[in-house]
Amino acid sequence: MRRAAWLLTALLAGIVLGGALHPLKDAEGFGWLTPLIGQWVAMIGQVFLRLIFMIVVPLVVSALMLGAFELGCGKGMGRVFLKTLGCTVLASTAAVAIGVGLVVLFTPGVGANLTATGSPEKIIESAAAAKPLTEALLDLLPKNPVASATRALEGEIIGLMVACLIIGAAMSAAGVREKVAHTLVPFLEQVFAVCMTVVGFAMVLAPAGVFSLVLNTVFTNGLGVFATLLGYVGVVVLALLIQQFVVYPILLVLLAKRSPWRFMYDCREVYLYAFSTSSSNATLPKALQTAETGLAIPARISRFVLTVGATANQNGTALFEGVTVLFLAQVYDVDLTLGEQITVVLMSIVAGIGTAGVPGGSLPLIVILMQTIGVPAEGIGLILGVDRFLDMCRTLVNVSGDLVIAAVVGRGEPMDVDTPAD
Ligand code: ASP
Repeated sequence: MRRAAWLLTALLAGIVLGGALHPLKDAEGFGWLTPLIGQWVAMIGQVFLRLIFMIVVPLVVSALMLGAFELGCGKGMGRVFLKTLGCTVLASTAAVAIGVGLVVLFTPGVGANLTATGSPEKIIESAAAAKPLTEALLDLLPKNPVASATRALEGEIIGLMVACLIIGAAMSAAGVREKVAHTLVPFLEQVFAVCMTVVGFAMVLAPAGVFSLVLNTVFTNGLGVFATLLGYVGVVVLALLIQQFVVYPILLVLLAKRSPWRFMYDCREVYLYAFSTSSSNATLPKALQTAETGLAIPARISRFVLTVGATANQNGTALFEGVTVLFLAQVYDVDLTLGEQITVVLMSIVAGIGTAGVPGGSLPLIVILMQTIGVPAEGIGLILGVDRFLDMCRTLVNVSGDLVIAAVVGRGEPMDVDTPAD
């Protein structure tokens, strides 16, 4: 069975068994059941979560420094770089705003009223909420990024992210760039690769982890919560559809002066690749080929935009992260202030830069976001069973967004005189 099938099976098994055992929770003679499920079975889920927690800091540091470095290195291309950056921010902001708007409108998680079931991590109050705005803004720039790193899982990850973006940009400065290109950059690339390998280990454990987390949740809270999952999937898919069929066509018509339907027809094979692999990186070669031959975007533009975009522009993922975190906040009845909701929006946009273009790449970042606003991390178990399907959909939107931006940036740029093969 493939991993997606295992995860779905684990989700269903956890729901069925948890639902069947729930009535016995307080029944006479079954006093042993609660510690068995709440402590021993739950431990498997916690092992799965801790495997992810332990690589969060190195993953964020390496991904964001490399992302900012790559974006900064594009400076030589001046206008192209600025246009790419502007479009990336525009498309990601639109995506997150749509997702967050729909989740606030439809409130798919409200009414589930789940309580955390024994997560050792205490639900934390967002420190930012208690501070005056000026102080909260100043705290985005940490005095000591190492201190932010040690408190990353207690809600101080934003400071660390900002520090990494600044350091990554500094690495790309002329004069420094040549020096770090053979030392710091390969080192960070290796740190990133190792972190993703640990995510791979966690994913091996994921079916058992999902089973454990879901069983424990349903055993404690009953079955009602799963009706809400359908609403959640509906909201994510609807928001992705709006991004793909409303936002992108608007960008194509207004900024790229292209027919959206012709454009999407020409991209159909890339969409298929993205949908079936759930990986922007794996789709990159196909996207490059389509951009240059099918869409007639100058190669030097499409290579820059699509390569950077495969990791640094993930509109579908940013949307998904925003929706998921707010949905889980609703499920666990965590009240978010407006400031915290805006934090989710901003962090989702930044998280889009730090998400690896591989299946499930957004998982660690969602956990970080949840920690930051005080939603129990075990909530990830609820959505993992349906994640593969949503991953396929959001990856399609990610890659589609890269191609749209390449078309916008490439508009009016002269075609390459000579396109040397790399
Ligand atoms: N699978 C996505 C991609 O490769 C990343 C994610 O959202 O997990 O674009």
